[in-house]
Amino acid sequence: MPADTVIQPNSIHSDLQHSLNKMRNAFNKAPNPSRQERIERLDRLHNALLNYKERLIEAVDEDFNGRAHAETLMSEILPTLEGIRYNKKHLSKWMRQSKRHTPLILFGSKTKVHYQPLGVIGIVVPWNFPLFLGLSPLVGAFAAGNRAMIKTSEFAPKSGEVLAEMLSNSFTNEEVLVVNGDVEVATQFTKLPFDHLVFTGSTQVGRIVMRAAADNLTPVTLELGGKSPAIVHDTFPIEEAAKRIAFGKGLNAGQVCVSPDYVLVPRAKINAFVKAFAKAFSTYYPSLKSNRDYTSIISERQRDRLLATIKDAKEKDAIVTEINPSNDNFEGSRKLPMHVVTNVSDDMRVMEEEIFGPILPIVPYETLGDAISYVNERDRPLALYYFDWDHARAEKILNETHSGGVCINEVMTHVIVDDMPFGGVGPSGMGHYHGHEGFLNFSKAKGVVRKGKFNASELIAAPWGNKYFNFFLNFQLRRFRKP
Ligand code: NAD
Repeated sequence: MPADTVIQPNSIHSDLQHSLNKMRNAFNKAPNPSRQERIERLDRLHNALLNYKERLIEAVDEDFNGRAHAETLMSEILPTLEGIRYNKKHLSKWMRQSKRHTPLILFGSKTKVHYQPLGVIGIVVPWNFPLFLGLSPLVGAFAAGNRAMIKTSEFAPKSGEVLAEMLSNSFTNEEVLVVNGDVEVATQFTKLPFDHLVFTGSTQVGRIVMRAAADNLTPVTLELGGKSPAIVHDTFPIEEAAKRIAFGKGLNAGQVCVSPDYVLVPRAKINAFVKAFAKAFSTYYPSLKSNRDYTSIISERQRDRLLATIKDAKEKDAIVTEINPSNDNFEGSRKLPMHVVTNVSDDMRVMEEEIFGPILPIVPYETLGDAISYVNERDRPLALYYFDWDHARAEKILNETHSGGVCINEVMTHVIVDDMPFGGVGPSGMGHYHGHEGFLNFSKAKGVVRKGKFNASELIAAPWGNKYFNFFLNFQLRRFRKP
């Protein structure tokens, strides 16, 4: 591995700035890679992933102190490969200059939008999907003809190390550079004058990152978190809703940005939901502590935070049901069983903060209008899930709530659809990527007017008041009658 590929925590701002300068110089020498060149980069990434997949999966397993290989393959490697394929397939169409309507005043000219690479994209990655959340923005950045620097999470150091090795063996460090290091490195990284910065992480750190980017007027895509609700309609079979929600909540032990954070359930069905959820979860995970399918909590700190959240709820009179199907003892383990929390109130941490772990509060509601108001009175979430076979009511939810994305009768899978934008709204984020929206996000849409030999503006040039000018003005004005 080239010595300067991985920057260690002790060499910070000037080293990072130096790497960025080198990358930007390389970009300036070849500022508009052809479709073929972009595809060649995407192919290199594709091959690198296939070559390194086992090592990457092992690394994630090690960082989590236990994460199923199948889960990493399904949620990190395969979606990246799919994304590469999708981008390659559509690149030619996306790169095409788009013809636009030319206004009358520009008679004789042609107007087009050119999609130009921005330059160097900064990518900041959280620990929960340490591969996909670095590589998926990279795919978009490459497709749009850019280069990128990736700051990995200090809480997934092994994944960062293997990612750095994989990318440095397949790309020059003027094409892509992985930066591993702690919060100080992250802080300096986000102060660099990138051409665009993609930050995936918490809303709290997102605010700091946006402030840092503002000093450089670096545009940002913020992929943040929040409390994503699931609403179960009274008419929807409660066991079916519980099964579908338990599938999503179990993934990565709830450590997913779009994990259902809490569930709004008709008051009379709360007990039935808790029972059905426990049954479904226990079917997916008949045991937890030594079950390799059930992911550990990433760190002691995160586990302590989750335990403190549960303790706080209990102290404030919540009813906490632990789902621990084979009665494992979790002493000394980083795993945490699933907890369903009922009788919740707004002053509990479980309802104040994003949970990001195996805890599921259930909130009762009386009418659908109440459930909609409950969601709308809170920060706009990253995702919203609605369970109802009735299309009209689902439309009502779509029209009357805001969220980054929605699944109806399903949870979380909107993230893997390459043909849809992904991103939050308000406190859950800004900007989009994935698929075409990713290409647009990492391109400058540059409007270009091209004038031919005929110069119509000569006829209407000053001195104002000549007969062509008067005719033209009157003609234009007549087009704008009051409606
Ligand atoms: P985090 O905000 O603590 O850290 C994210 C990244 O920011 C890390 O690489 C870290 O090194 C860096 N960082 C930390 N402090 C910084 C600072 N002061 N300045 C600059 N960079 C800094 O988030 P996390 O704990 O790694 O991840 C969990 C959060 O990420 C959750 O809120 C989750 O919802 C969110 N998330 C969002 C998405 C999405 O696509 N919207 C995906 C995954 C996770």
